Amino acid sequence: MNKIGITTTIPAEIVFAAGGAPVDLNNVFITDIKRSEYVEQAEVEGFPRTICGWIKGMYSACLDHKIPKVIAVTGGDCSNTHVLMEIYRMRGVETIPFNYPYGRSRESMESELTLLRDSLGASEETSEQWRVRLNRIRRKLDIVDRMTWQDGKVSGFENHFLLVSSSDFDGNPDSFEEKIDRFIGEAQRRPEIDAPVRLGMIGIPPIMEGLHQFMEESGAYCVYNEVARQFTMPFGGESLAEQYLAYTYPYQIGPRIDDIRAEIERRNIDGIVHYVQSFCHRQMEDLIFREKMDIPILTIEGDAPRAIDARTKIRLESFIRMIAQRKGAAV
Ligand code: SF4
Repeated sequence: MNKIGITTTIPAEIVFAAGGAPVDLNNVFITDIKRSEYVEQAEVEGFPRTICGWIKGMYSACLDHKIPKVIAVTGGDCSNTHVLMEIYRMRGVETIPFNYPYGRSRESMESELTLLRDSLGASEETSEQWRVRLNRIRRKLDIVDRMTWQDGKVSGFENHFLLVSSSDFDGNPDSFEEKIDRFIGEAQRRPEIDAPVRLGMIGIPPIMEGLHQFMEESGAYCVYNEVARQFTMPFGGESLAEQYLAYTYPYQIGPRIDDIRAEIERRNIDGIVHYVQSFCHRQMEDLIFREKMDIPILTIEGDAPRAIDARTKIRLESFIRMIAQRKGAAV
């Protein structure tokens, strides 16, 4: 299948319907052993130091992995993507824009889906068939999520890693589904994770390494990865338009906060870690979350793909200890 790069979650159903294989460039970058070199390489080529590490990593990963075509989200995700598209084109990479309509209207979404189908040469009927096919896997990811917050069988990092992979289904839904089936079977036999503090992580997927693992070493269990869960399209829908309108991340922040609040309640979460990325406009969302949510929030900032630093560790430990003391629990 033809590899088609994506810069964030897009209607992967349409890519598969066109006979392509979506490749999430974020995942390619962050799982590659050369991830630090990718960021440096982009800076050597002229990307400013004050541009987010994810953008630089995606740029280098795309070229290094020789991805010939990229679907870039130009509305609802990241304004830096506009210029990234220009640079990709300059390097010979074909680009296709996809826009999440800010007004979240059904009509605009239908029109965006039609544009994407036409660009890739996919029919509406086959795209909808792929929606049904991928929904079966999405529901299995919901089981993984429940095995985290309900059963205590899945670590916060495993939850993040598997759910975030639903942006591209590893480019191969059949083998991805087998992987999830195996994981569920193995995780069901584990003892229950029992931690005195339950945390949730909101914000973009962290570039920093070892964040979830350190939380668990410090006595907290991360039972919610907001954006990774949204990638799985937890609200479903009777059509692709409905499904991608129900996705909370690309639109106005109000419904996103409602979703986070509901999950805090449902998952019995004691505190929130808001991960923000250096030089990202979404850092400003921190102000809104703090005003709108009545729960302890710790904001963690990362810039490059490297291990969690000592300062962040100290802040996380203090946050977890503070919550544990409030609950009268020991960590
Ligand atoms: S972290 Fe922010 S700046 Fe970086 S790619 Fe994502 S949205 Fe864009």
